[in-house]
Amino acid sequence: MSSTDQPKRILCPRCRLYDREGRRCTIGKVNPRTKLDTYETAQVLGVRALCAFNLYRDHLLAHK
Ligand code: SF4
Repeated sequence: MSSTDQPKRILCPRCRLYDREGRRCTIGKVNPRTKLDTYETAQVLGVRALCAFNLYRDHLLAHK
């Protein structure tokens, strides 16, 4: 697998689904910046709360 096969990380401010004025995700997802924040978010809100652009979500889904 080459590095180009890695999922692309998108941060909320650069995402087309981000509402800049409302400062929120328009589809109600969250995209924590760090692995630890992602794991804690998944514990509190569930893995489904994480957006598809989060780098750690697939790993969590695979180890549920
Ligand atoms: S949570 Fe995900 S889908 Fe929503 S704005 Fe952020 S990067 Fe985009």
